Amino acid sequence: MSKLILSSELLNSLVDGRTPSKDDAYHIYQDAEMDPTDLYKVSQFLRTKNKGTRVTYSRKVFFNLINLCRDTCSYCTYKSEPGQAKVSMLSKNDIISLANVAKKQNCTEALFVTGERPEQKYQEARTWLKENGFSSTIEYLVEASEIALEAGLFPHTNAGNLTKDEMRQLKDTNVSLGLMLENSSERLSEEGMPHQFAPSKNPKARIKVLQNAGELKIPMTTGLLVGIGESPHELIDSIYAIKEIHDKYQNIQEIILQNFQPKLDTPMKSSPTPQEKYFKTLVALTRIILPDMNIQIPPNLSPASYSSFLSAGINDWGGISPVTQDYVNPEFPWPRINDIDTNCTDAGFHLRARFPVYPEFFHMVNPDLVSKMSEISDSENLVSVEYAK
Ligand code: SF4
Repeated sequence: MSKLILSSELLNSLVDGRTPSKDDAYHIYQDAEMDPTDLYKVSQFLRTKNKGTRVTYSRKVFFNLINLCRDTCSYCTYKSEPGQAKVSMLSKNDIISLANVAKKQNCTEALFVTGERPEQKYQEARTWLKENGFSSTIEYLVEASEIALEAGLFPHTNAGNLTKDEMRQLKDTNVSLGLMLENSSERLSEEGMPHQFAPSKNPKARIKVLQNAGELKIPMTTGLLVGIGESPHELIDSIYAIKEIHDKYQNIQEIILQNFQPKLDTPMKSSPTPQEKYFKTLVALTRIILPDMNIQIPPNLSPASYSSFLSAGINDWGGISPVTQDYVNPEFPWPRINDIDTNCTDAGFHLRARFPVYPEFFHMVNPDLVSKMSEISDSENLVSVEYAK
């Protein structure tokens, strides 16, 4: 029996509701390298079975709190050093002004992003926090989230590895939190690898944060960075690592699959972006390993081909901002929401705006925040069509 036939049998069994083992997934990947057609068919089937033809996005504003970061990843240009641009903390007045602009544009998500614990490494951050009455960046994030909420936005914070107590505090104002696993392989932290100088990217530390969030019943966005020197098996193992957390805590609300893009002035400037076939195969494998998961690719990182990922099984485009740029990938502008809408319709799907928490995770959210969301939500816990216009 050839591997291709074996894989077809496997794929058929997945259509019938079987969960693939890790070895099954390795086999399916191997066969898809030759011809991914059957895999895409099954991943599309499973997406449609579990998610219908709806594709979602979150209309967001990006609050870039501070670009200083304790760690150094070989692919990152988000992190700055004192003396370069973008290293001062976004002030409370800046947050209020930007929140008001975003509210006028009917944004619903306030995305807060910072580098990893900047005050541990940089005097500039410590001084700003002290002068403004905060003992840590996270303490400031708690107040920043309250400001955004007051302005009518719903916070989602991505601030690196938070402690359980910090997440507990943020749960009062944040409808969900974010932490990319990136990859579950410790090999990527070895000498010469992209996470060598980023202890916070140690997969054990990240998995612990996602588990703590599970114990606190916090909906978490996580994801994988594809194309940073991992092997396909390491990527498949990473999908299973997320599955294990979700099977236990049921708190992973979405998986972002982000394709690495090389940036000038980084040690990985000559590394290629992953080939689209490899990236799509991993997207499709994520769908068959976690058939009812929300799976997202950022459309701005595949500007010429993002719509084609619908045929690999995705059902979400993530946060898109009509107000601010993608500060992590500033060279990749967001597509216009109207254009995404048109492309979805042309491919037989319909685009809907969601909150930064998916409808099926509302039960985990602070009831006060749910009540506030209900002012602009519809009966399916999505942003009402009228509000999202
Ligand atoms: S931890 Fe995040 S912000 Fe810090 S260097 Fe790595 S990718 Fe950049």
